[in-house]
Amino acid sequence: MGRQEAQKAQAAQEAAVRAVTVIGLGPMGRAMASTFLGKGYRVTVWNRTAGKADEPAAEGAERAATVHDALAASELVVLSLTDDHAMYAVLEQATEALSGRVLVNLGSHTPQSARDASRWASSHGAAYLTGGVLASPPGIGKPGAAAFYSGPKEAFATHREALEVLTATDYRGADPGLAALYYQAAMDLFWTTVLGWLHALALADAHGVSAAELLPSASSVLAGMPDFLAFYTPRIDAGEHPSDIDRLAMGAASVDHVLRTARDAGVDTSLPKAVLDVFRRGTAAGRADDSVTSLIELLKVPAEVAGPVAGSKHGLR
Ligand code: NDP
Repeated sequence: MGRQEAQKAQAAQEAAVRAVTVIGLGPMGRAMASTFLGKGYRVTVWNRTAGKADEPAAEGAERAATVHDALAASELVVLSLTDDHAMYAVLEQATEALSGRVLVNLGSHTPQSARDASRWASSHGAAYLTGGVLASPPGIGKPGAAAFYSGPKEAFATHREALEVLTATDYRGADPGLAALYYQAAMDLFWTTVLGWLHALALADAHGVSAAELLPSASSVLAGMPDFLAFYTPRIDAGEHPSDIDRLAMGAASVDHVLRTARDAGVDTSLPKAVLDVFRRGTAAGRADDSVTSLIELLKVPAEVAGPVAGSKHGLR
């Protein structure tokens, strides 16, 4: 190849990398399309309800008439759809155009559905990256926004710069399920924390204490959590639950007081009841004198399999 041809090929490659298709124009997809446009990308958009393409089109995006056209426009295809049902409903309209594309699924999925989708994409000649975005639409393109990714390393490396237009990236490995796993683990923690906070606010409200008045103490509990996690993590990884700092029996008594406080206050008791149930199953299994972290052994198997005091393959009972 001559020098001019090589330069041309390189320019074509750079142009291809700076083109992106965004499929799905809910609040998240629109924020992503707008952010790519703001960074000078050639953006093609498609959405089932065509009117939602008006806003990105007014900002300079190309409006694809069909899913086929949307896929044909760019190697990098960002999917921002409600779930994987929506993804199949859209992409099955144009499987012939999938070959050679890099699909980046930023919608909600589970590790298993991500692995299934990756196999499905491969069968049509497309690479598949799973993403898990830890940001709201207004946070896209702003400092602090982050996303987990997993899937073929080469596809990620090629499009990393484009994906970093949206958020910081945290590549977790080649298994397409990993990004979904990290995302769902984060959501597991997030939603249970949010619910715990809301329950504490309901308790406080029953005593005439406002959310604002509880804020400093609630924040202080959460601010201590990184140290709490860092202390117990090596012990958990080693499978050790010594009682030198805390005992499960002490924790169960404490949760019982939370439940009684909720009952006395006349607020919903379903959350502390569920928590106490797990603690009591732990003590019934002979863990009363171990740390509260020993509950992880209980949580590793479904409650319906483990039963209240039945044997467990982890040797817990
Ligand atoms: P929406 O549910 O508002 O929009 C999703 C898009 O999916 C719309 O374009 C909708 O099309 C499309 N869609 C849904 N079902 C179908 C279907 N059967 N066939 C074709 N298209 C379909 O979601 P968001 O924009 O808020 O979020 C997109 C993804 O990003 C979600 O998976 C969400 O979990 C994730 N996410 C969102 C965050 C947020 O704060 N919004 C934060 C982090 C992640 P139509 O317009 O025609 O209905």
